[in-house]
Amino acid sequence: MNKIVVASGNQGKIREIRSKLEEFSVELVSQKELNISEVPEDGLSFIENALIKARNASRQTNLPAMADDSGIVVPALGGQPGIFSARYAGEGATDQTNLQKLLNELRNVSQEDRGAYFYCAIVYVQFADDPTPLVAVGKWQGRIAEAESGSEGFGYDPIFYLTEKRCTAAEIPLAEKNRISHRGQALEEFVSLYREALM
Ligand code: IMP
Repeated sequence: MNKIVVASGNQGKIREIRSKLEEFSVELVSQKELNISEVPEDGLSFIENALIKARNASRQTNLPAMADDSGIVVPALGGQPGIFSARYAGEGATDQTNLQKLLNELRNVSQEDRGAYFYCAIVYVQFADDPTPLVAVGKWQGRIAEAESGSEGFGYDPIFYLTEKRCTAAEIPLAEKNRISHRGQALEEFVSLYREALM
């Protein structure tokens, strides 16, 4: 069985990836289990940061590695919070302080300029300096609501309004979110790229 290190300590994410990769004979090991030390994520894009994490995990283990990087992008704010989504509200930021900051930044912004999308990059390297990494991305379009609604999900879900569903991402069941979200889309694309790479 091929081993792949997942450069994430998030068990929920690893479970989701594992279920999507069921058709392949791969064993996913989290980087936490292998005591991999983290590196600064100093790229400018989600793809660059995912690659930095995957290369680091592969370098420290001599195993193939995959990593993801995701966040929310608001064009009216020049792309913020972007790659800084997890720490948008600064030192000690929480999901709640992050989304409050975003609501605050947009308080005088009209409905039509509140468009936003979640973005997720998933990358895979066969070895640390792999010159042809697999790169899959997903984009989930919505807009920033004026107030929070719903209690499912995490992060910015309670203020991410899905126009066609007329509710926020925190008001849909997790299984449905996993199917349609940025991460779900990126995983779907990743599975095809991986299948192709094995042929
Ligand atoms: P990471 O890629 O897991 O580090 O996620 C970065 C940050 O983006 C998270 O801390 C959340 O604030 C935000 N984020 C990423 N994906 C989602 C999502 O599906 N819902 C809500 N927030 C998300």
